[in-house]
Amino acid sequence: MKTSIAIIGAGIAGITLARALAPSADVTIFEKSRGLGGRMANRRREDFAFDHGAQYFTARSPAFRSVAEDAVQAGHAGTWPRAVLTLTETGLAPDSRPAERRYIGLPGMSGFANGMAEGLHIRKEAAVAALEPAKDGWSVTDSEGQDLGRFDVVISTAPAPQTIRLMPEAFSGHAAMKTVKLSGCFTLMIGLDASLDLGFEAARIEDDVLSWIAIEASKPGRPERMALTIHSRNDWAEANLERDRSEVQTEMLAALKRLLGYDFSNATWLDLHRWRYANVEKAVGEPFLFDDALGLGACGDWCLGNRVEAAVGSATALSELLTKRLQGA
Ligand SMILES: Cc1cc2nc3c(=O)[nH]c(=O)nc-3n(C[C@H](O)[C@H](O)[C@H](O)COP(=O)(O)OP(=O)(O)OC[C@H]3O[C@@H](n4cnc5c(N)ncnc54)[C@H](O)[C@@H]3O)c2cc1C
Repeated sequence: MKTSIAIIGAGIAGITLARALAPSADVTIFEKSRGLGGRMANRRREDFAFDHGAQYFTARSPAFRSVAEDAVQAGHAGTWPRAVLTLTETGLAPDSRPAERRYIGLPGMSGFANGMAEGLHIRKEAAVAALEPAKDGWSVTDSEGQDLGRFDVVISTAPAPQTIRLMPEAFSGHAAMKTVKLSGCFTLMIGLDASLDLGFEAARIEDDVLSWIAIEASKPGRPERMALTIHSRNDWAEANLERDRSEVQTEMLAALKRLLGYDFSNATWLDLHRWRYANVEKAVGEPFLFDDALGLGACGDWCLGNRVEAAVGSATALSELLTKRLQGA
């Protein structure tokens, strides 16, 4: 009988891991949300589309570049933006960083994860709440106490503070996970009736409050309706995480007015998303955590750094170890 493996989380790390292990093990992913992709997220509201998490990703390793290019061929990914400008109160400055191929999911950011997840066994809306020792393995239960099954090996790809809460005390990775620091982010989503030429597709923002702005309609595969996605700075989000949402929104709109000269407070669509864990400020510094004696492990961006490619690198490294273990078993 094949080894049974439960993977917690259908973000890009969980999907990468499951794809690599599926040929040699019996793999199930549990995802608490309705959709896949985790922080590679998008939403559609009233014909406006927003990628409210990751904005684009790079693929510097040859292996991941080949995955990204396959996704482009399959129609699950495209490239965007042509340039990333810098926006300050004094205006726009050109992209000074070296040209690099930047990828986005199609038709929304999660399209990349959805494409990679084809054929995998995924249970959505299944929030893992507890792992209990069971005969030669782990019994997994959800937040309502329902039994999700027994597995030989369990791997969590949830952000470190959430993985800490899931893993039993005996897990050898606790000390390393406690050193991880993640910061939050607020994402402001603005939908407009009229189109607007701001002179860029995407811009990094140098400001005390905001860090990024994207014009959604400039991306391939998105609706033409004018939609803007704006990220706060991570340090500003950390300082304002528990503040009233409408105050946060008002302050982000005021910063935008200062930078662009437009008041969007009466826009057709306005929405704010709070990311409790967005950016990895301090990573573990090891590609993954695995407790061979317990058959428990963890991976994700927070092991190696921030960004999509760190999550993929972490999951790939763990999949290589687990594949060797499966072959030796
Ligand atoms: C606002 C923002 C902007 C970003 N910008 C960029 C960017 O421009 N470029 C870039 O490369 N990266 C960017 N990132 C970072 C990038 O999104 C992440 O590095 C990457 O998506 C992390 O993938 P992951 O699989 O490790 O984690 P996640 O995507 O967080 O996946 C973890 C999954 O686990 C699920 N989960 C958690 N707990 C449980 C549970 N108990 N039971 C079941 N499921 C559970 C979650 O729902 C989630 O789907 C950004 C992130 C944010 C939030």
